[in-house]
Amino acid sequence: MSAGSSSLMWFRKGLRIHDNPALEHASKGSNFLYPVFVIDPHYMKPDPTAPSPGSFKAGLNRIRFLLQSLVDLDSNLKKLGSRLLVLKGDPSEVIIRCLKEWDVKRLCFEYDTEPYYQALDAKVKGFASTAGIEVFSPVSHTLFNPAEIIQKNGGRPPLSYQSFLKLAGEPSWISSPLSMTISSLPPFGNVMNCEISEVPTVEELGYEEAQQDEISPFRGGESEALKRLRQSIENKEWVANFEKPKGDPSAFLKPATTVLSPYLKFGCLSSRYFYTCLQDVHKNVKRHTLPPVSLAGQLLWRDFFYTVAFGTPKFDQMRGNKICKQIPWNDDDDELLAAWREGRTGYPWIDAIMIQLRKWGWMHHLARHCVACFLTRGDLFVHWEKGRDVFERLLIDSDWAINNGNWLWLSCSSFFYQYNRIYSPISFGKKYDPNGDYIRYFLPVLKDMPKEYIYEPWTAPLSIQNTAKCIIGRDYPKPVVYHDSASKECKRKMAEAYALNKKLTGLVSEDDLINLR
Ligand code: FAD
Repeated sequence: MSAGSSSLMWFRKGLRIHDNPALEHASKGSNFLYPVFVIDPHYMKPDPTAPSPGSFKAGLNRIRFLLQSLVDLDSNLKKLGSRLLVLKGDPSEVIIRCLKEWDVKRLCFEYDTEPYYQALDAKVKGFASTAGIEVFSPVSHTLFNPAEIIQKNGGRPPLSYQSFLKLAGEPSWISSPLSMTISSLPPFGNVMNCEISEVPTVEELGYEEAQQDEISPFRGGESEALKRLRQSIENKEWVANFEKPKGDPSAFLKPATTVLSPYLKFGCLSSRYFYTCLQDVHKNVKRHTLPPVSLAGQLLWRDFFYTVAFGTPKFDQMRGNKICKQIPWNDDDDELLAAWREGRTGYPWIDAIMIQLRKWGWMHHLARHCVACFLTRGDLFVHWEKGRDVFERLLIDSDWAINNGNWLWLSCSSFFYQYNRIYSPISFGKKYDPNGDYIRYFLPVLKDMPKEYIYEPWTAPLSIQNTAKCIIGRDYPKPVVYHDSASKECKRKMAEAYALNKKLTGLVSEDDLINLR
């Protein structure tokens, strides 16, 4: 690149300074560097018709988390002599306009495998190539490059974790030190007619500030991510003995896992840096757990889902998705879906998890298992895509590849097929939290229910319900279905659907398969 030229660093995810190859490349040899984030109103605009505060796409907690991450990024850029330039509008149009106005010679952004970004990036890259602008778009959101793994596997994504591990091997960057520091950044030049703003507040985006108990306790940003990472790994024994699925899903004051997922989702934390820190811990302990159950193994699960998602057309739907079983989910289920989404199924364990989702935007992995199983093949037989949509909107760590992958898994539509193994909405939570503290915290209406009844309050005698100031059917709902009969019926339907899938695969169209009951 010639001297005196400008680079544009387009932040989307990867909201960090550390281990950010796109930012590093953008800053090298440029006289001017424009660090840009585009607020897409489509993603951020309040939607008054949505079932809870937020936009059509994202709940308010995730929008707030993103804004906090941007404020932190801006502050970290300022320490390096720059700042974040925030613009609003359709991202591809805004970026193309900036490239033209600022006479940019080099455009840098982290490669993204999500279909939304693939389409966006194609437009911007198309313009850059006709305008003779260099594009640098490295893979740095994941440990491995999903495209390379798929290529190694003859063009098909590996469909099991073990085959993924075999193909992946050791990450290629592990032999070279990760770039952790940029000591200064070039200034940005004249911003001409482009309207630059500070990072907006949620109120400036048109939201009313939420009540304190509806605000997620997890704060966005790289600084918070690195602090949380340090706290997670300082206890070497904890890291060495980490074993999923062990761990208490009802622990909420001190969660049983790292809660680094929202930071990884937005790239406030580099997954490669996280992995390297874990390898360092492993070197300093006598024994440690291994993938798939170790903490490093969790990061590999993340990469596994990214790879399958990238290599599977229509990964996020049942129809047309070759790796997804075709199951005739109920379609007259709006009431049941709403009861599940709003935490009023009458099963306190399920409802408390769904309230934690609404209030915190995060729940433990096994808690997610329980509610996803309950909605789909366990009790309600509602389509996994509907549950996926609810998670996608409300999770602060909502991630296209991981969320869809796990919904496919939990609904026994792909990856995992033991549909007879169902989580009990009563006994599963009780194993971890016999007193029901988690339920009492997220469902205060049940706070005085004696522990004998807290998981099945409908069985409490009326006198007990009166003393607990919680009459079932009035203050807290009766169960929407009876688990014993509902789960039996679900198993029967799953067996039927599996048999049809087996018999008819290749013989009839998917539509016929869905319509055959
Ligand atoms: P830790 O146990 O500390 O793990 C560290 C990191 O490993 C996580 O931050 C995450 O990036 C990754 N990881 C852990 N478990 C998984 C997994 N099963 N699959 C892929 N990556 C994993 N995770 C998301 O990040 N975004 C989602 O949208 C999402 N949706 C889910 C939907 C369902 C139905 C289920 C069952 C799970 C979903 N998960 C999702 C996976 C998992 O529950 C979360 O990643 C995890 O609970 C986050 O907490 P943590 O950061 O403390 O995890």
